[in-house]
Amino acid sequence: MKASITYSIIVPMYNEEAVIEHTYERLKLVMDSASQPYELIFVNDGSKDRTVEMIKLISDIDPNVRLIDFSRNFGHQIAISAGMDYAQGEAIIVIDADLQDPPEVILDMIDKWKEGYEVVYGRRLKRKGETLFKKLTAMAFYRVLRSMTNVDIPLDTGDFRLIDRKVCDVLRGLKEKNRFVRGLISWIGFRQTSVEYVREERFAGETKYPLKKMIRFALDGITSFSYKPLKIATYLGFFLSLGGFIYLLVIIYQKLFTDTTESGWTSIVALNLLFNGIILILLGIIGEYIGRIYDESKNRPLYIVREVQGYEEEQSNRGEIRSTEETERIKHYVR
Ligand code: UDP
Ligand code: MG
Repeated sequence: MKASITYSIIVPMYNEEAVIEHTYERLKLVMDSASQPYELIFVNDGSKDRTVEMIKLISDIDPNVRLIDFSRNFGHQIAISAGMDYAQGEAIIVIDADLQDPPEVILDMIDKWKEGYEVVYGRRLKRKGETLFKKLTAMAFYRVLRSMTNVDIPLDTGDFRLIDRKVCDVLRGLKEKNRFVRGLISWIGFRQTSVEYVREERFAGETKYPLKKMIRFALDGITSFSYKPLKIATYLGFFLSLGGFIYLLVIIYQKLFTDTTESGWTSIVALNLLFNGIILILLGIIGEYIGRIYDESKNRPLYIVREVQGYEEEQSNRGEIRSTEETERIKHYVR
């Protein structure tokens, strides 16, 4: 069963019909040259275009190709997690569908893995063909995240990485719903290293991460690894009260000892708006955390699979149902 496959490549896909054939060919070329048995797991994250039909055609002719088809769009991080549930290899590699992460770099990652590293992440030296806005926001995101969390999440790395079977098993045991996979991998530990690469331009199609999704993603990253934002309320409250108290003393002094008492309701309205705004923002931050607690407590499955293709009959329900042997192994790592 598992023993025969060495490498599992996970490719999350959302409306990637424009690139998918090309991606498959590049991946196949690279993986054939690694000369070990491998599987290409394409996770279709609820695409509305022809992505899924195309993968089915490819999977019909290439026995190394698998399709995991979601019932709807669950999100990039969840697609990656599903791929890990289905992966059978000894080393698992996650790569974007759009060829921004050059498949050839996988060979460098494999070399590091053979040296004994259990996590090999790709570090982006440069990002080509992305807007200044995307570059700036990405840069800010990684740095803010780093300053806010105690987990050592490496700068400028995406989800393009290789993980060992051990790491994959531990990750599968972490059942949190708001998944920020790269943070979880750093949190897990093990021997980690990086390979450097230049992030290419998207081969075709457009980014599937519009600003709204990016903000969600950033919030997930920060809230799953830090509760510092919650502390802002405490600090801010403290400083504002202190300021208010000092100002009060000043007013009392003016009233008693001088004849320059200030009056005016406009300043009161302005201050009111300001402080109410601050309070609402802080409530919103608390809400983000409560919403996530709510998500976790509902205990819904992480994703729903419409169908899988490319597996033998007995392996096709790997996602939800684990064999006892697998559960035991996960227990061994997660206590
Ligand atoms: N993706 C996905 N589900 C989503 C959004 C994106 O599976 O809801 C996939 C997408 O198909 C691609 C990868 O995640 O393989 C990264 O997305 P994209 O290249 O659009 O992001 P960017 O590189 O612009 O940050
Ligand atoms: Mg991309």
